[in-house]
Amino acid sequence: MKLHILGCGDAFGSGGRHQSGYLIEANDRLFLLDCGATALLSMKRASIDPRRLDAIILSHLHGDHFAGVPFFFIDYLYRQPKSDPLVVAGPPGTEEKVRQLFQLMYGGGSNDKELPPTCFQVLIPDQPTNVSGIEVVPFRVPHQSHEISLGLAVGYKGKQVLFSGDSMWTETFIEKARGVDLFLCECSFYNRQPGMHVNYQDLEANLPRLECKQLVLTHLGEEMLAHQNKLAATVAVDGMVIEI
Ligand SMILES: [Zn+2]
Ligand SMILES: [Zn+2]
Repeated sequence: MKLHILGCGDAFGSGGRHQSGYLIEANDRLFLLDCGATALLSMKRASIDPRRLDAIILSHLHGDHFAGVPFFFIDYLYRQPKSDPLVVAGPPGTEEKVRQLFQLMYGGGSNDKELPPTCFQVLIPDQPTNVSGIEVVPFRVPHQSHEISLGLAVGYKGKQVLFSGDSMWTETFIEKARGVDLFLCECSFYNRQPGMHVNYQDLEANLPRLECKQLVLTHLGEEMLAHQNKLAATVAVDGMVIEI
């Protein structure tokens, strides 16, 4: 299994990095964890055919994590139709928000523009869900105060990936990371500061307790980028391909 880092940036374009998009390629499955506005272009830059995509699995509904979905829709509608429906899974409200966003971006007139064939699935915290044959265990993380933000434990054919989504540091990561092949953890800040994101000081203090096989940091802000040479973990870079 391979992880293609399509985009590892934050919402602010820090370091000129593309927005969130983590493409997991297995033998017979291709699925995307989060879909920032730049996901489709990054996939084409990596010469991966978007028609191969089975599912988009969303951690939360912030723009840098889901605003790229409508671009896949118009690609399927006008350029390269997909033979089977795309599955879009995410926290409660995903279908409504994705539909609204698509209408805002490409609708017009009095009737809603029709989506290409799409199956929406709701991810409920702590309810294991089968998404196109991929085992997803969503769990709630502290990031948004009202809406539900999810971390995602994803398994396929014996490989396990943990994705933090956007979240401040939580003890849950220790438990969920135990034994996983790869933990993709957001780390927006270097120093402790207010905000619902991981900072490197909290992460570093917990490194000895993290029992994952690989740790990759992502969603780095400017302050983290400025401290890159001091980090005791792999840092994601756009275009990077990681063997899992
Ligand atoms: Zn974000
Ligand atoms: Zn967010």
